[in-house]
Amino acid sequence: MSELLNKRQFYIDGKWVDPAAPNDLEVIDPSTEDAVAVISLGAQADTDAAVAAAKRAFPDWSATSREERLAVAEKILEVYKKRASDMAWAITHEMGAPADMSAGDQVAAGIWHTTNFINAFKDFEFVRPLGDHAPGTMISWEPIGVVGLITPWNWPMNQVTLKVIPALLAGNTMVLKPSEIAPLSSMVFAEIVDDAGVPAGVFNMVNGDGEGVGSQLSVHPDVEMISFTGSTRAGIAISKAAADSLKKVALELGGKGANVIFADADDQAVIRGARHCFYNSGQSCNAPTRMLVQREIYDHAVETAKSVAESTRVASGHDSGPHIGPVVSKKQWDQIQSLIEKGIEEGARLVAGGPGLPEGVNRGYYVRPTVFADVSNDMTIAQQEIFGPVLSIIPFEDEEEAVRIANDTAYGLTNYVQSEDGARRNRMARKLRSGMVEMNGESRGAGAFFGGVGRSGRAREGGVWGIEEFMDSKAISGWDPAS
Ligand code: NAD
Repeated sequence: MSELLNKRQFYIDGKWVDPAAPNDLEVIDPSTEDAVAVISLGAQADTDAAVAAAKRAFPDWSATSREERLAVAEKILEVYKKRASDMAWAITHEMGAPADMSAGDQVAAGIWHTTNFINAFKDFEFVRPLGDHAPGTMISWEPIGVVGLITPWNWPMNQVTLKVIPALLAGNTMVLKPSEIAPLSSMVFAEIVDDAGVPAGVFNMVNGDGEGVGSQLSVHPDVEMISFTGSTRAGIAISKAAADSLKKVALELGGKGANVIFADADDQAVIRGARHCFYNSGQSCNAPTRMLVQREIYDHAVETAKSVAESTRVASGHDSGPHIGPVVSKKQWDQIQSLIEKGIEEGARLVAGGPGLPEGVNRGYYVRPTVFADVSNDMTIAQQEIFGPVLSIIPFEDEEEAVRIANDTAYGLTNYVQSEDGARRNRMARKLRSGMVEMNGESRGAGAFFGGVGRSGRAREGGVWGIEEFMDSKAISGWDPAS
């Protein structure tokens, strides 16, 4: 086995520094189960050093102009594009996304969000009039201070750029704690920020786990806001931990999206929905994991989803091609297996995939693309986020029943609707309880936000909303409109 990459250092105050105390953790490649790198888990002293650097940098950075901040974000984007292949390598080796997908959608997500933020910031109105009825009243938007950014492993650069770029543009300084399972891409990102010439202390990165650096940031008296993406469990823990210091907490959590397919949907709707569910090996919070199908086309839809599952190749992240890779870790693999078993136990009809490794595989955290039919919405597999390539198909009779089933969940991130009837789509979009509704396979336009309701959290990330999320608003009266 080749030597492990030494990735023990943190990026604090514009420099790569050794951890205060050694505390090694191996980064495991889920395609092979081999360790590829070793990082350090930070201690209180590391968190404190990073927060102190951010606090020192805040007065100067928050006083910079729109043009200065834009120049920095544009430079980050330029260097990010140059480092695309290093980034793709890191993502594949830390979380298992297939090479082409890492180089494609995973890396591209960072470019997309950064570009959209830059465009939104060009016209961002820092000071806005309340209205003609009160010419002396203005609402101004101001940086918050030191922000803590805690990210998961499933779409690493998607989440890092959705936080770091708006936090920078808003005038904040920050400490990023990426997932300890997938830290390598964030370390490449820290090198990018360094190369882009971001002033020392504005961006800091400390590796660590949730109990350590994650919790230390959540309770830190000098951190004004935590922006978190990850599990609902951790989101609740962070909210409680942050309460004593009354931080702002923005949460992007799990999901259990319904994909409502009416009998008049286009003929690709089921194929599209099943593929989307399996994409990234099912490890997307917005995955359409509950496929609700109108009774008239139900049997045909089950057959179609079965054939999509059976034709979805599962293979190493190191291979190129359109296959899906492993899931991220042994822990996730075990969790997915137990939920598949639970589905069988609770009486859902297994039509494709099932427990165990795919045929011919004995190493790596691979999961068989799995389809359950005749699922009832109170089953565990319909209520709990599985975070693996597992689709649950549920029949419905009419619009009213579809809305009732779709909304019968604690989550509320993205719901999907497939129908050729425009009036029905518009009605459905208004009735579904979620932060996002995507219809007929059309993704949200550039600059729209990503975010949920309920147990999916209520953060708004992306575009102008994503910048405002990292700002405080101030209501001012007695403003001189003539000056
Ligand atoms: P996780 O909650 O275990 O970990 C996410 C991050 O939080 C990691 O950096 C981890 O170290 C940290 N963390 C864990 N416990 C913490 C604590 N008590 N205090 C502070 N930090 C803590 O989640 P994960 O397993 O990395 O990611 C998968 C989850 O993320 C899924 O539930 C998925 O739906 C969710 N997710 C949500 C979105 C979204 O935008 N809504 C996007 C991606 C992933």
